[in-house]
Amino acid sequence: MENGEMEPHVLIFPFPAQGHVNSMLKLAELLTLSGLRITFLNILRIHQKLTLHTDIQSRFSRFPNFQFQTITDGLDNRLIDKFSDLIDSLKSITMPLLKQMLLSGEFGPTPTCIILDGLFNFIVDVDAHPNIPVFSFRTISACSFSAYSFVPKLIEDGQLPIKGEEDMDRIISGMGGMENVLRCRDLPSFCRLEDPFDPGLQHGVTQTIQSFKSRALIFNTFNDLEGPILSSLRSRCSNIYAIGPLHAHLKTRLSGEISPASSVSSNGLWEVDRSCLAWLDDHPPKSVIYVSFGSVVVIGDDQFREFWHGLVNSGKRFLWVMRPNSLAGKDGVPADLKEKTNERGYIVDWAPQEEVLAHKAIGAFLTHSGWNSTLESIVAGVPMICWPQFADQQTNSRYVSDVWKIGLDMKDVCNRETVTKMVNDVMENRKNELMGSVIEMAESAITSVEEGGSSYCDLERMINDIRLLCK
Ligand code: UDP
Repeated sequence: MENGEMEPHVLIFPFPAQGHVNSMLKLAELLTLSGLRITFLNILRIHQKLTLHTDIQSRFSRFPNFQFQTITDGLDNRLIDKFSDLIDSLKSITMPLLKQMLLSGEFGPTPTCIILDGLFNFIVDVDAHPNIPVFSFRTISACSFSAYSFVPKLIEDGQLPIKGEEDMDRIISGMGGMENVLRCRDLPSFCRLEDPFDPGLQHGVTQTIQSFKSRALIFNTFNDLEGPILSSLRSRCSNIYAIGPLHAHLKTRLSGEISPASSVSSNGLWEVDRSCLAWLDDHPPKSVIYVSFGSVVVIGDDQFREFWHGLVNSGKRFLWVMRPNSLAGKDGVPADLKEKTNERGYIVDWAPQEEVLAHKAIGAFLTHSGWNSTLESIVAGVPMICWPQFADQQTNSRYVSDVWKIGLDMKDVCNRETVTKMVNDVMENRKNELMGSVIEMAESAITSVEEGGSSYCDLERMINDIRLLCK
């Protein structure tokens, strides 16, 4: 450090949910590897789960410039029914506490900047700390972020609200960078609300507008995937860094440093069941379909049975992630289906997903189209069947099927015939076509994070910009 020059110190704060913590920890590791001092602030209950189920303590202990800090979400482990209760608590308890911690120097040297989860922009008002620039990290795709950002315009144009079920296939117009791609049913799920002033819809819109006001926007995406949308967003926001896919980016920068197996960082909030990898070893290449609906989706018994019969009737083997409590009102596979399940498939509570997708036995991914899962599938070169449930997932699945052409969209449908048909299409009838495009996209993803690639260069630019804030 030259005389008078401060050491760059970045405070990173993810929203307390699996997909958010996972990708922001990867960002934290990347920035630490580049020599920046990092404080990773986590909601206490999330941090406790992470340290219980992963090796993050030892993984990060090798970085002297890295520290974990925790803060309460104000819920004291109370179970909540509604997402809005968490939001309210974060707003009324966590926000003032964070401000206090910043003022009292609890994080060590004053942070040079805060990389704040975009979902949090309602928490720390971007003007609240004029001396600490806020960079907004969006864990969603640029296409869904862009769709959120157009909602006020769509309401003004009269294109929203959606006028019932018969209106769902109407094409939406006037969205820069994504002309005529989305139908009503592909808009972020809250657009299905009848009242355009519903707090849920307004919350999503406010976050997006707040993100535009931050010093910079960071996306976990890459130029070859979302170039036109990123260009359109760049004309509306002064500074955008597209630095993804973060898991591939991290792996590339770690290669040579530690063994490839351990370079797959597990940031899970549940205990990983690795036995499924040995089960996959016993199956021929591209013969198994991987089924996971992420860390939040809960499915009903009827839906479970439709998927189950659809998969069994396809004749393909399946590896299915069934988190505890993810099947409404049931504790695991219903008794009458257990025997056949053991014959045709394998069930785990939580899988090492990146490793599963990279396994040669996997031929397709039946997914809820969460953004992390989508990127992980792309990098592994695995075509998808998409069954989106909420938030950004509706938009992601449309892009997967109709723009990138790397999967099929099963949106708003859940019956065994469709499941069987789609499994057969992805794994047989349309295998070559879908596999060809997803492998091409996987290659682009890897190129983007290698030296000179678009995401590599954006990350370097971001690190330089952070360093410049200290001068
Ligand atoms: N995941 C995992 N094991 C599982 C299921 C999911 O490690 O059995 C990880 C997955 O790799 C991804 C994250 O959980 O990184 C889920 O994030 P995503 O954005 O796809 O969906 P969300 O959980 O936020 O709905």
